[in-house]
Amino acid sequence: MTTLNETHDPALQSWVASANAPDTDFPIQNLPFGVFRRREAMDAFRIGVAIGDGVLDLAAATKTSTALAQAVAAALDDPAATTLNGLMGRGKSTWSALRLALSRALRNGSAEASALEACVVAQADVEMALPARIGDYTDFYASVYHATNIGKLFRPDAPLMPNYKWVPIGYHGRSSTIGVSGERFHRPVGQTLPPGATEPIFGPSERLDYEFEVGIFIGAGNDAPIPIAEAEDHVFGLCLLNDWSARDIQAWEYQPLGPFLAKNFASTISPWIVTTEALAPFRTSWQRPDSDPQPLPYLDAPSVWAEGAFDVQLEASLSTVKSLAAMKLTRTSFRHSYWTVGQMVAHHTVNGCRLMPGDLFGSGTASGPTSDEAGALIELVEGGKKPFTLSNGETRTFLEDGDTVVFKAWCEKAGARRIGFGECRGTVLPAR
Ligand code: MN
Repeated sequence: MTTLNETHDPALQSWVASANAPDTDFPIQNLPFGVFRRREAMDAFRIGVAIGDGVLDLAAATKTSTALAQAVAAALDDPAATTLNGLMGRGKSTWSALRLALSRALRNGSAEASALEACVVAQADVEMALPARIGDYTDFYASVYHATNIGKLFRPDAPLMPNYKWVPIGYHGRSSTIGVSGERFHRPVGQTLPPGATEPIFGPSERLDYEFEVGIFIGAGNDAPIPIAEAEDHVFGLCLLNDWSARDIQAWEYQPLGPFLAKNFASTISPWIVTTEALAPFRTSWQRPDSDPQPLPYLDAPSVWAEGAFDVQLEASLSTVKSLAAMKLTRTSFRHSYWTVGQMVAHHTVNGCRLMPGDLFGSGTASGPTSDEAGALIELVEGGKKPFTLSNGETRTFLEDGDTVVFKAWCEKAGARRIGFGECRGTVLPAR
């Protein structure tokens, strides 16, 4: 079970003044990890921790005479590492010790403030890289609302497959085309079958969509199946993931082996990984209706029911060539997930499958129960039948060239400090 500690104290403030702004995503209670470099200096990428509008440079911090320097040296085999894989592989007690040292070093009144001030770089002056070398990427399908909405379009008579409520469904994706927020990618081309046609055509996708997912970074790996009660010890943290999807390519190719080129042309993640420890105040009970199949024993534990879900608010918006201001599309919460993160880990490894530090899971499109909580355009526009009207009067059925999709997420509740995920942004360029 998760426990709160001094790092979650909502009264904590930081000597980095911007971290004390009520609406910052990165107060001292968050402390997410990422990989950055100073844009002008073009120096090597290195590990940083977001604090307010700044980034604490951990490699620079190791060169100070502070308790934090010792904690970083103890947590990182290589302080100059260019990915988080090493830290991820060390496991939960190391992550927790480092978080505590960061919290103590960055809080108001810390004796280490003067030594560390020069280690904080403005986020405005940095570029972010993928936080980890992602060996394997698995995409789940954990929203029953999304699965039902999509299933209705493809199979109106039987939207949910008979296995859905028993098995956390997923497929092995590709990691090579995962990019970090800010990426611009070309509209994919491929084979599609026009309505009523008997032979496919080849050309740019005309039904390009986004999927709002939660990304799950694996920490320590495994040599044996991971019991459900230990599953979350193997999760380093969460980020936001856009699993861009070409619906017309998908419809033609997906049977019999599932998603392929409709998905692997681009996937975008937010650069900061919010640790599961930072999310502890925002855990909530997991719900499974009595009338539904109950989880098999290997997917069941008291902690799953008590606090298996993460109450993370998810908001999608769109800016276009005509409107650079972001226009809201939808809002929901990750707490509606039909399967928990721990169940995904336990299920993925139950057959002996190995997970490695830095592996990434997608939750699947995180749609909520109502139509305005849909995590993809295809649900909002009912498969293409009903265009969606944006706040500037433009309509969209699917994405157009020049469109930028922005995901944001945050957690808030009484008695806890609000924390956020930053953003996950990507732009569609014309087909090559
Ligand atoms: Mn997906």
